Amino acid sequence: MSDVWDLFKGRCVLGIEHAADIVHEIEPKSRRPKTWKDPENQVALCYEHHHQVHTEGTANWADRLREARAQALRQLGKSDII
Ligand SMILES: [Zn+2]
Ligand SMILES: [Zn+2]
Repeated sequence: MSDVWDLFKGRCVLGIEHAADIVHEIEPKSRRPKTWKDPENQVALCYEHHHQVHTEGTANWADRLREARAQALRQLGKSDII
């Protein structure tokens, strides 16, 4: 499993009570050709939330996902990584 999985302990960043199913890039490869794989560009999501993000548009969600990422890390006691 990826580092992202460990980082979020297998939880969805949009709902820490959801088990994560998938790793999502906050900004798509096309917009970050060199750094899209950086850990700070990745979040773990459940299928339902992942579907919602892609349905509503990843660009609209980028800021919210960055916030959700920070909040999830705080909730998981990993504030030092934010
Ligand atoms: Zn995605
Ligand atoms: Zn979720």
